[in-house]
Amino acid sequence: AGPYKGGIRFHLGVTREEVMALSAWMTWKTAVLGLPLGGGKGGVIVDPKTLSDRELEALSRGYIRAIAPFIGKNKDVPAPDVATDPRIMGWMLDEYEMLLGEKAPGVITGKPVVIGGSLARAYATAQGAFFVLQQAAAQLRLSKNACVAIQGFGNGGGHLARLLHQSGYRVVAIADSKSTVYRSEGLDVEAIEAHKRTTGSLLKCTGCETLSSEAVLAVPCDILVPAALENAIHEKNAKDIQAKLIVEVANGPVTPEAEKILFDRGVLVIPDILANAGGVTVSYFEQVQDAMNDFWTEAVVNEKLEAHMQEAFEAVWRAKEKYNTTVCKAAYVLALQRVAAAMAARGRN
Ligand code: GLU
Repeated sequence: AGPYKGGIRFHLGVTREEVMALSAWMTWKTAVLGLPLGGGKGGVIVDPKTLSDRELEALSRGYIRAIAPFIGKNKDVPAPDVATDPRIMGWMLDEYEMLLGEKAPGVITGKPVVIGGSLARAYATAQGAFFVLQQAAAQLRLSKNACVAIQGFGNGGGHLARLLHQSGYRVVAIADSKSTVYRSEGLDVEAIEAHKRTTGSLLKCTGCETLSSEAVLAVPCDILVPAALENAIHEKNAKDIQAKLIVEVANGPVTPEAEKILFDRGVLVIPDILANAGGVTVSYFEQVQDAMNDFWTEAVVNEKLEAHMQEAFEAVWRAKEKYNTTVCKAAYVLALQRVAAAMAARGRN
């Protein structure tokens, strides 16, 4: 029974149904990681790129005033999601504390570190995915310099590209919503990050090919990381995928029909509720640190994250072997068993 946990999304495609589906995913995600949290989510139908900083701040403060009665450190604790970030969380926390008339850092996670955020939270989704990807790659006996294609260059994909590049993987393709940059020998990820920061797009990057945004899914690679939005890989494009391993960093990027096609083709899919759970796991660490008013070093946060992700991966893998099923179904079995056990303990079966 909570506290409910999940991010707030600013995107034109937000719908009530999407928010409900994303909340349910959060329930299963926190269960797979064994976190004492339920699932929640929030969204605003807006294209934040069309807003000035002042408008974005006014929207963030207005949103938190509207939901203030429903949130709280023991009730519902929001965080960043698509197109929201620590700066926005900072405005939201400030607005909430002014309404409440007292300090309340535990009401929101993914805050700037100076006002009670956790070190390593900003890139935690990617860091968690990196740990899971390494374990999955080891199961498939992929080499240390396997090549990777990444769809999405935001909170998840952006940081993951850097982590993979730094540890010797060959990142051959990166896509944002407009285009894909591709180089079979491997991209200079830092240069591409700098290019995106200064020009706002991936177009005209020197030394690499520019393809359409969707082309990222079909490039030759060992590992494909969908890190953008839901339903990116579907019935029609699943057959074009050349990777042996898919790590879902976005929420719900592979449709059930595509999942079946990929399974039949022998592609291993690591589901979102395991692969992208690093973000909410460090959000949980942030709640713990806020409650104790005692803050951990970046190394301690990452060590604890690695231990949590490893344990979750192993538990899911054991369920996969035990029930002779896909990693995705195994993760749901584990999550459902844990939620059912918690309900039974309350006499609610
Ligand atoms: N938005 C992230 C997710 O989908 C993080 C949620 C959180 O930290 O509460 O998992």
